Amino acid sequence: AQQQREIDYESVFIEGEKDSLNYMRSIFDDWQATGITSVLHEKRGGYANNVESMRGLADKATSQGVHIESGVAVTGFRRDGGGAVNAVETDRGVIECDYVVVGVGPWIKSIWEMLELPKVIDIRGPDGTLHKDVPMWVFWSLQEGTLGVDPDLQKTNDGNFPPVIHVDSDATLYSDKDGSLITDKLWGIYYKPDFHFGGVQGGAAPYRIETDPDDVKVDPYGPESPDYIVGKNFANMWCSALAHCQKRFEGKLSLFKQEPSGGIGAFTPDNFPVFDVFRENCYVIADSNHGYKMLGVGKLVASEIVGQRSGLLDPFRFSRYAQGKLHPTSHSPFPWS
Ligand SMILES: Cc1cc2nc3c(=O)[nH]c(=O)nc-3n(C[C@H](O)[C@H](O)[C@H](O)COP(=O)(O)OP(=O)(O)OC[C@H]3O[C@@H](n4cnc5c(N)ncnc54)[C@H](O)[C@@H]3O)c2cc1C
Repeated sequence: AQQQREIDYESVFIEGEKDSLNYMRSIFDDWQATGITSVLHEKRGGYANNVESMRGLADKATSQGVHIESGVAVTGFRRDGGGAVNAVETDRGVIECDYVVVGVGPWIKSIWEMLELPKVIDIRGPDGTLHKDVPMWVFWSLQEGTLGVDPDLQKTNDGNFPPVIHVDSDATLYSDKDGSLITDKLWGIYYKPDFHFGGVQGGAAPYRIETDPDDVKVDPYGPESPDYIVGKNFANMWCSALAHCQKRFEGKLSLFKQEPSGGIGAFTPDNFPVFDVFRENCYVIADSNHGYKMLGVGKLVASEIVGQRSGLLDPFRFSRYAQGKLHPTSHSPFPWS
């Protein structure tokens, strides 16, 4: 909250169980989650239809004279004697270049390897110990789905649409269907009314994929993946957690949409992004699944490329692993929190 105040990002921070309950009830009168001890209300939080927002960004870029060539797959890089990239190999031919910017989300591991960057790295821990041969990229499977209710069901007491709700809790969670124990460990969910998905859409904490990262098939991606879509346990857990939080969701499990959902993300060793220049002229924006803030990062990276170094990007350099300048470890069940 303090950091948000410093950058004029309006938010309210509530501490204490009783005050947290009262605050949540002032937004939703059916709020009933027990054991919530703090609330951070980001006043400008929200969500966007991702396809439409990408189209909007593409329109902005093309209106500035940028040419977007879609449907082209990068298959390799050619480098000069000094190691800099001088051409990109694609499935439609070789493109000579002066500079390369990489922003490939969960596909970063394959591009990283095309650039012949290390598959494992040494990391200096906070106590100075050197951890050797840590995999640079691991995959997590994101768990998402939609409850097929009218999105209007999730309005606030004053009849408006609410912020995205994100709950981390250690309260024991029981099934809303039969009262059986789901978990007595830390759990987390997020949800919001969503007209694009037609209901209340959201997710739960992802799980780390234990398969050797070399054997994880990123494609076919998302709902088309035969390996990484959500199963029955997710529906029971997520819908029960919704009911745990708000009475209006009790008894709604049967409305969960039985359709493939979810996707995987590629994560760095400390689960924070890497923004850095490799091979002299290749800027890598590796998001580590940190999401929409990559739009702002893109602007900062563009400034760096034309010569204006950004202090905001400094904590995300690759050298932090060797130097032990790691980010704080979160206690949240979400690796991006
Ligand atoms: C299920 C799920 C839900 C999410 N929900 C949210 C959310 O609610 N809010 C949020 O902020 N973030 C969310 N995220 C995270 C967010 O999607 C990513 O952090 C973000 O999309 C990263 O942006 P990017 O531009 O770096 O990469 P991406 O959006 O992944 O784009 C990468 C592009 O690179 C292309 N590409 C890959 N390999 C190659 C190649 N070899 N040649 C050419 N092109 C290539 C891909 O086709 C793709 O178009 C979610 C992620 C998942 C998986």
